[in-house]
Amino acid sequence: MTTIEKARLLDQQDTLGKYADEFYKKEGQIYLDGNSLGLLSKRAEQSVLTLLDSWRQYGIDGWTSGEHPWFYLSEKLGEYCAPLVGAKSKEVVLTGSTTTNLHQLLATFFKPTEKRNKILADELNFPSDLYAVASQIALHNLPESHMKLVKSEDGQTISTEAIIEAMTDDVAVAVLPAVLYRSGQVLDLQAITKAAHERGIIIGFDLCHSIGSIPHQLHEIGADFAFWCNYKHLNGGPGSVAGLFVHEKHFGTAPGLAGWFGSAKEKQFDLETTISAAPDAGAYQIGTPHILSLAPIEGALSIFAEAGIDAVREKSLALTEYMMECIMHEIPNTFTFGNPLDETRGGHLFLVHDEAARICKALKENGVVPDFRAPNGIRLAPVALYNSFEEVWHAVQILKDIVFNKTYENHENKRDIIA
Ligand SMILES: *Cc1c(COP(=O)(O)O)cnc(C)c1O
Repeated sequence: MTTIEKARLLDQQDTLGKYADEFYKKEGQIYLDGNSLGLLSKRAEQSVLTLLDSWRQYGIDGWTSGEHPWFYLSEKLGEYCAPLVGAKSKEVVLTGSTTTNLHQLLATFFKPTEKRNKILADELNFPSDLYAVASQIALHNLPESHMKLVKSEDGQTISTEAIIEAMTDDVAVAVLPAVLYRSGQVLDLQAITKAAHERGIIIGFDLCHSIGSIPHQLHEIGADFAFWCNYKHLNGGPGSVAGLFVHEKHFGTAPGLAGWFGSAKEKQFDLETTISAAPDAGAYQIGTPHILSLAPIEGALSIFAEAGIDAVREKSLALTEYMMECIMHEIPNTFTFGNPLDETRGGHLFLVHDEAARICKALKENGVVPDFRAPNGIRLAPVALYNSFEEVWHAVQILKDIVFNKTYENHENKRDIIA
């Protein structure tokens, strides 16, 4: 059933519906781009204001005073974030950006030897990750061919078998996404990690599109490291500080890129000429934390702590299921789904259409915010914490109108600078 009544019924049964009011949603707009930039919540806004207040009140003493002393904030928020990635508190720290954290982790864990000297990644991964991998390889004076890419058979997804097959004896480290940024496919992290370890490969995951959308068990599955941004499903704000996980079995491994904020806290201000690194994931921080960009994450995380990631995942699956049903029923034979149809899909749908760029422009003009992925993809993310089933229903009606009446032809089929 794809009627509006069905949508309203699903909204009535929804236990997370109450959180929508905590977010700044624009009147008359249906925001389906939370997989690129999550919306501001009142709690995140408040935690920024609280932080500013501590600066106003304490000046330099804010490092050790106030509700959230800045000196410990990265570790404290790491601890707060740990349940979302299934980690122990000490295994997570919020620091850097996704890309700089990947650099740090590769600088730490990619130690090429005569026999093992390649990094395995996949050809569908986000370019920044591949650029980082390529440059780390170059830093070791190894040729480009030492980045080995798992191929996709259909251009949208990557099979577990293909990944495992690519885990040859010359691979030292593998870096893969938990959820692919285009198709939204969820990889089987447990099986992949197990296979990597059986072959002596260190493995790390990019959680950019999975954190805050699907639950993780990084500690339990024994993943070696992970990294992510907090501004997509986590709603931490544009350019907010990122996160990293290092499994406790690696505690004590010297950071590849050292800096004084990787020091053991009690030693940092001894200001010695050699570092005494923190005994946990804190060791992989580099310089002074970006306190103002950490601030909103506290408020953003408090919503997840209350709502629970399992409930978020359950609603997210129901939202995308309902959206697919509506699209298949209301707009048949128009789009191809690039996302997996089963429960190996993440938090967004990926619709493929030749006119995708201008359909996205028309959607935006009509109050629906999607995002476009060149050359022909439309990503739609109904977000559990702030989107309703009724919004999904409306968004599909608007999409239907645009493709049936071809109003997208009023736009150029070309991406904007940011898409
Ligand atoms: C969003 C995203 C990034 C962004 O990296 P930044 O360093 O935050 O700019 C990197 N990798 C993936 C897979 C992403 O989805």
